[in-house]
Amino acid sequence: VRGIDILRNPKLNKGTAFSLKERQLMGIHGLLPPVVRSLDEQMIRVMTNFSKRQNDLDRYIYLSSLQDRNERLFYRVLTEHVEKMMPIVYTPTVGLACQQYGVAFRRPRGLFISIKDKGHVYEMICNWPERNVKAIVVTDGERILGLGDLGVYGMGIPVGKLSLYTALGGIDPSKCLPICLDVGTNNEALHKDPLYIGSAHKRVTGQEYDEFIDEFMKAVSKRYGNNCLIQFEDFANKNAFRLLEKYRNDYCTFNDDIQGTAAVAAAGVFASLRITGKKLTENTFVFLGAGEASIGIAELLALAMREEGLSREESYKRIWLVDSKGLIISDRPTGGINHHKEPFTKPFKHLTDLEEIVNEIKPTVLIGAAASPGAFTENVLAAMGKHNERPIIFALSNPTSMSECTAEQAYTITQGRCVFASGSPFPSCTLNGKTFIPGQGNNAYIFPGVALGVLTCGVRHIEDKIFLHAAQALANLVTDEHLAEGRVYPPLSDIQSVSLAIAVDLAEYVYKEGMASAYPEPDDKEAFIRSFLYDTDYESFEPETWDWPY
Ligand code: NAP
Ligand code: MN
Repeated sequence: VRGIDILRNPKLNKGTAFSLKERQLMGIHGLLPPVVRSLDEQMIRVMTNFSKRQNDLDRYIYLSSLQDRNERLFYRVLTEHVEKMMPIVYTPTVGLACQQYGVAFRRPRGLFISIKDKGHVYEMICNWPERNVKAIVVTDGERILGLGDLGVYGMGIPVGKLSLYTALGGIDPSKCLPICLDVGTNNEALHKDPLYIGSAHKRVTGQEYDEFIDEFMKAVSKRYGNNCLIQFEDFANKNAFRLLEKYRNDYCTFNDDIQGTAAVAAAGVFASLRITGKKLTENTFVFLGAGEASIGIAELLALAMREEGLSREESYKRIWLVDSKGLIISDRPTGGINHHKEPFTKPFKHLTDLEEIVNEIKPTVLIGAAASPGAFTENVLAAMGKHNERPIIFALSNPTSMSECTAEQAYTITQGRCVFASGSPFPSCTLNGKTFIPGQGNNAYIFPGVALGVLTCGVRHIEDKIFLHAAQALANLVTDEHLAEGRVYPPLSDIQSVSLAIAVDLAEYVYKEGMASAYPEPDDKEAFIRSFLYDTDYESFEPETWDWPY
């Protein structure tokens, strides 16, 4: 490539950072203003523009156009200002961007495959310009965050997640491919939306849907090999579990809403236990909600208890689930127990009121993931405080408006005794002169590190034990100082080193367990993984020259 096309290619473009020599050599001299700027100087301009935007959606749009213009600068900004940028490119702003995707749409990013293309999925994947894709995040847009069916507007989620693969996990952006499968949408408002960018018909379901997904999986494997990681994201409950079970042993795949959430929440629980001083198996758990998040977390905790020596039956005995029809018990009169909930059933009385459930079961840990805002009422929180010296309370539902309670409510009602974490960020809270910093159980603590470990070591199937190991690694990164402030996760500003540490820890583990396929086994796992990391410094376009010694 030479000339103007360099400036139009976001992978090559450095804007004013091209040196005088490069400008002359590449035939772009005069196509840029005369000044030559460093990457750091360009960042000042970006940050100035960023802070001038009036609202977060505008900041989101500003950042995506930067990504379309100068990819390295975009990632440098993300990595240098991770705490500021994460809520824009990821939750909560990405949710808003998805709702407004028709308006926010500038240039397409990622691959859009419609069910009308069934029979040609492989050819479409071949249209993607990169030869060496290693990681795909795919959605069908049916359950975007807690916002429901957004159809093709859901593309913002795979795009945002993969930005974090690079910004947090250091995975080269050219190896990352966001995909939206358009099978229609049941969101009537989108059918009438003149700006909608997908097919305005009802969702195709049943056999045709299954065949389409199957064709997609096979096509990815054919084009990019069986080691290409496929992360399922924001599929509806009825498909999420089914597809995970169907594909987990044949592909390198995981579902972040089930397994990633599980690992993040379990890590928070493990760290909390250092505060309460209890062993995992000495706890009793109550979950409000029995969906992707709750079942994922509950299953991972049950696995962890079995690793500590409990039998299958005993591990499930300590975990109680509550769904929209009440406490999950054997032969429940209200029914509604599918096979994911089944292992958690046990004989007990039929209860529906959460306060009553807490008073009867006396859990040490209460976790909410039911998108039922305010469900942790004063009475529920007070009951947790009554039965426990240090109750563990996680309100995981997203976004903030869906949260079971606020951090302030939890700390106030338990007189500052509870260990609290939430899905969406809450400000710190001061009570009788002591400041509490609530933990944020953000999935971004886990998936970039897991992806980095899996890709570099060539892990073929991502077993639950890998997520359990990642959760333990994350919990081990929480220091006693963090715990003293009430934090059960490392600070968000450390999230890049957290991701690397998780990947290195996983590398040790997967080689030991025989799950790695990248050979020879590297002696120094950290150096090995670091050698893969994407560099946000510009590459030089000046040809390397040298002199002859004689
Ligand atoms: P899901 O699969 O649709 O499950 C929702 C569950 O909540 C279902 O079991 C449902 O009961 C139950 N439920 C609904 N209303 C209820 C009520 N009033 N009382 C008791 N249970 C009720 O959804 P999901 O994927 O698990 O997500 C749930 C929430 O968790 C969302 O807000 C999501 O944003 C959040 N989440 C947070 C994180 C995180 O913090 N890192 C990660 C993932 C998800 P039935 O089974 O009877 O329908
Ligand atoms: Mn998700």
